Amino acid sequence: MTQDLEQSDLIRRDRARLWHPYAPAAPDLPLWEVEAADGVRLRLRGEDGARHEVTDAMSSWWSVIHGYRNPVLDAAAKAQLEKFSHVMFGGLTHAPAVELAERLVAMAPVAPGRSRLDRVFLADSGSVAVEVALKLAVQFQTAASHPRRQRFLSLRGGYHGDTFAAMGVCDPVDGMHSAFPGLLAGNLFAPRPPAAASATPEAVQAWASDVAELAAAHSSELAAIVVEPVLQGAGGMHAYPAECLTALREVADRHGLLLIFDEIATGFGRTGELFAADHAGVVPDIMCVGKALTGGYLTLAAMLCTAEVAAAVSGGQAGALLHGPTFMGNPLACAVANASLGIIETGRWRVDVARIGTGLASGLAPARELSAVRDVRTIGAVGVIELHDAVDVTAVTAAAIRHGVWVRPFRNLVYTMPPYISTAADIAQITAGMTAAVAEVHKVQVQEAGSHEAEVHERVPAHCGSAS
Ligand SMILES: *Cc1c(COP(=O)(O)O)cnc(C)c1O
Repeated sequence: MTQDLEQSDLIRRDRARLWHPYAPAAPDLPLWEVEAADGVRLRLRGEDGARHEVTDAMSSWWSVIHGYRNPVLDAAAKAQLEKFSHVMFGGLTHAPAVELAERLVAMAPVAPGRSRLDRVFLADSGSVAVEVALKLAVQFQTAASHPRRQRFLSLRGGYHGDTFAAMGVCDPVDGMHSAFPGLLAGNLFAPRPPAAASATPEAVQAWASDVAELAAAHSSELAAIVVEPVLQGAGGMHAYPAECLTALREVADRHGLLLIFDEIATGFGRTGELFAADHAGVVPDIMCVGKALTGGYLTLAAMLCTAEVAAAVSGGQAGALLHGPTFMGNPLACAVANASLGIIETGRWRVDVARIGTGLASGLAPARELSAVRDVRTIGAVGVIELHDAVDVTAVTAAAIRHGVWVRPFRNLVYTMPPYISTAADIAQITAGMTAAVAEVHKVQVQEAGSHEAEVHERVPAHCGSAS
């Protein structure tokens, strides 16, 4: 950390003009200017002018898996820039989009006797990919002579994005439903699956029966089941057994529902398999990817579906999938995505994620001893410290920065999803910084474990943090 007498003018100007995620206008909350980003390091400048070199524990909301200023991704962006940055996708096509679609189809989960996901819709963000998936499911049911099947079955504790239809399948309590009464109602929610760490086969079976019962009771009005496979991310970093996906596949097939996997957070290796669906060998009818798709360089997402679904919708009354964003298939974003997936295709991620997972498990273990901590868990390259009470986000963020680590806690969770290029030393620094920040800020003895849970859940909308 170095001192600089001048206060940051940029932060003052930001406060006068910009919104930040889930924040009030002109918030009186800390903000850091990023002056430089390279590899796993960010150079931050605080409001007081002080500079901090920090290791990134967040991968910029789980997207920057290959690090900042990655030479391969930089080169791909520059090369495409020299050709053309954007063209409309209506009536035109280009190599980056075609190549990307082929790569995604080749990577997507497969299972014997199951149709593969072989048709790709390129969307401009994760939420839009989810919107398109939900739209496609409704259009599919209409084309299959089930026009009343317009509702969705999702899971409590889920998160699927911030646009209206996506919000409507997010957790009905922790999500933003209460802010938009009347606009988000109508969907069904199955209980959150049991936690992976403690689930017994009986608990999985009981959960599966609940889901089956709910689906059976409403099958004539349901279009699809939509879930984040194996790890519920922004809804609480909740890992659950892969067998639950097998149960969902059976329920969907039994009632003619489409199964949608939202792999926007879990895709491209984060949970230890290329896609979370691969833990169970289950293939959905529709899959959404986003976040890490471009290695965090540009906004891009994709929806993949089977040939049957695509054919049914294309042969339906509308004759088309009714969506088409202006920046659909943006060539720059597709070119960088191809470079990012090229790195994934080397298979190196599997070694990296396993190595990071081991480092996270051992590095975060000491946090279990803290009285404020309720649970410590890891899955793939994800490490979570769950507190009994809501995190003091401002204080923990500042304390972690003092320890050279950038984290963005939310609700009662301090977690990390580090870039795959993080070294053992980086992971050691991240886990030590997270543990120290929690220990310093949340040192008060907790009297009754779990007693504040309701309060914690009420405070903040489902996504990532209370403000800024
Ligand atoms: C982040 C996320 C989304 C939304 O993606 P955006 O690009 O922020 O619109 C949807 N689903 C899941 C599981 C996510 O983690």
